[in-house]
Amino acid sequence: MIVVPLIERKRDGAALSPEEWRGLIVAYAAGDVPDYQMAALLMATLLNGLDDEELGALTDAMRDSGASLAFAPSVPPRVDKHSTGGVGDKVSLILAPAVACAGAAVPMISGRGLGHTGGTLDKLQAIPGFRVGLTLDETRRQVERIGAALIGQTDEIAPVDRRIYALRDATATVDAIPLMAASIMSKKLVEGLNALALDIKTGSGAFLPELEDGLDLAETMVRLGEQRGCPTVALLTAMDRPLGHACGNALEVVEAVAALRGEGPVDLMEVTLNLGAEMLVLAGVLPDLAEARGALEAAISSGRALRKFREIVAAQGGDVAVIDDPDRLAPAPVIEPYVAPCDGYVETVEPRAIGQAVVAMGGGRSRMEDVVDPAVGFVIHVNPGDRVQIGQPLATIHPRDDCGAVIGRTALDRAITVGPEHVGVGLPLISHRVTVEGVETVV
Ligand code: URA
Repeated sequence: MIVVPLIERKRDGAALSPEEWRGLIVAYAAGDVPDYQMAALLMATLLNGLDDEELGALTDAMRDSGASLAFAPSVPPRVDKHSTGGVGDKVSLILAPAVACAGAAVPMISGRGLGHTGGTLDKLQAIPGFRVGLTLDETRRQVERIGAALIGQTDEIAPVDRRIYALRDATATVDAIPLMAASIMSKKLVEGLNALALDIKTGSGAFLPELEDGLDLAETMVRLGEQRGCPTVALLTAMDRPLGHACGNALEVVEAVAALRGEGPVDLMEVTLNLGAEMLVLAGVLPDLAEARGALEAAISSGRALRKFREIVAAQGGDVAVIDDPDRLAPAPVIEPYVAPCDGYVETVEPRAIGQAVVAMGGGRSRMEDVVDPAVGFVIHVNPGDRVQIGQPLATIHPRDDCGAVIGRTALDRAITVGPEHVGVGLPLISHRVTVEGVETVV
């Protein structure tokens, strides 16, 4: 394939035809387009964008580079959720079993931690034995049997996206909204979904901190999903502070299990219930958001959602004993309180600094090959706007060793600031809802 003229046209601001995008992706998959040409094309795309036809063709071609899930007609409507990534975001662990109990099937493909944000797969793998690498066939059978499976991207799923993502990571082209939209949706569209909910984080700890960028990504992905027969809705949610209290893989599993017992923090439950209700209504499982929320709350309060989580863990080889006894999750050897330096009001609980510290303490990856320490992290006890007194515990640090404790303390000195005045409680937890009809402000 002659690629240089295509790169030239994209560089000069012209659109490529859908056939040209398809041809490029097929040729790249076959090894007939070298990485340096694909990288040049990605940079031209970052600079000049994609129109709707190009975006659709790129997404479809990446999706079609691998296999897809196909379910028996008797399987309930399939739903999934994607989050653009945050700190303390353990929503998927609660959402998947609760939504499965409310009558949908959940074939959920999740990711690993990226940068300062945590990943669902790393959290699940804090549970000894939990297998995230199911084949699509195993996934289909598990979803048909128990209603949900939580898996990672394997070689079967949009393999070209995987190669292109690695290239983008090495060429500063990750932050391109059309490339993000195509990458995320190519994997979601493999699942044969009847509805998809997107959790687009906004604020200082989000990949796209500016609201306008978050809305742009949300609108792009909603359009892309709807045009491909997958009803899609997006909620813009706050990531100017961590979600819930726990930040770190095993600590987040403990918090998710508590949430499934009905003891979750209010912010975590609000985001989970709102996303879940959207999924159930969009897929036609329940008629309206209030009824769907009620069904999710009933699944949790009755214990069914926790039992479903146990079934998922058992089906995927995990040690279910950790659900009854979270101490089996190998706690960090040290637990150190972090206290308020003065009386006053919490001004910031900066998620980026906290997420970066979890990674630096060993709870995430700086390089792909790094081994994750599931035990380390933080439990944050305060939110912006809280009144605190000198000496009051603001957080606990869970480091592996003294070096980790220093990293943790230093990060919290930057992340949690206390001042004399009440300066607000941060961004609205859920600020906007984006559907095919447009953008609504959530009050
Ligand atoms: N997650 C993805 O899968 N792809 C992106 O481009 C960004 C986040």
